[in-house]
Amino acid sequence: MGTRAGATSATGELARQIAAAERVVALTGAGVSVPSGIPDFRSPGTGLWERVDPMEVAHIDAFRRDPKRFWGFYAQRFDSLAHKQPNAAHRALAAMESAGLLQAVVTQNVDELHRKAGTRELVEVHGSIAGCVCLHCGASVSREQARSRIAADPDGVPRCEACDAPLKPRVVLFGEMLPEEALLRAQQLCGRADVLLCIGSSLEVYPVAALPELTLAAGGKVAIITRGTTPFDDLAGVRLDGDVVAEMQGLLEALGLAG
Ligand code: ZN
Repeated sequence: MGTRAGATSATGELARQIAAAERVVALTGAGVSVPSGIPDFRSPGTGLWERVDPMEVAHIDAFRRDPKRFWGFYAQRFDSLAHKQPNAAHRALAAMESAGLLQAVVTQNVDELHRKAGTRELVEVHGSIAGCVCLHCGASVSREQARSRIAADPDGVPRCEACDAPLKPRVVLFGEMLPEEALLRAQQLCGRADVLLCIGSSLEVYPVAALPELTLAAGGKVAIITRGTTPFDDLAGVRLDGDVVAEMQGLLEALGLAG
């Protein structure tokens, strides 16, 4: 895949790195979903999180202590996220994967927008809203099944058919362990990447904060496409700090994949 002739900007430099690389991996955070109308909960005063403290209500202890209260909040989040649509940044990554220029997307986001955009190789290190799981027996149900159980339950709590225990979203709640398999896969991908594209993440939250180090330690390059600063800015080969959608569209164009 040839890059656009005469591209001399940082975007052009990144496109050349991608075209020359064998393995390119993307690491995405909340900033990728903001243009789809999903606020970053760390930005105070936005959307659902305006009225609640996410650290309190979306904590595993809150779920265990009072599943009715937990689901009183979370059912709304489930519904609201399920109706969001991917934006051009999600689609750019799917197009790169289709063109053989991107191996995988590792994401902190639970909103499934990468999947909706067509990304096939997706590692969700914080889980996803795809469904629910029973912590008692391990049974799992789809989001649609969970929704009908929420509607049928007098307390609005989706329950396990086998053991009647409250179901938990397949999202990693605060205070919970990360899914080991996804984490190992993310570490493997980032540790072997020639170029790691860090998109829409402040790279401050574990485990994502540790992943660029693996790429750098193995001799790979790190590119940062996000607004605001990150701890890796001085180590990044390319730093693009404009709007994430505009930057990704520019990159797609520089890769000769636009239109
Ligand atoms: Zn069960």
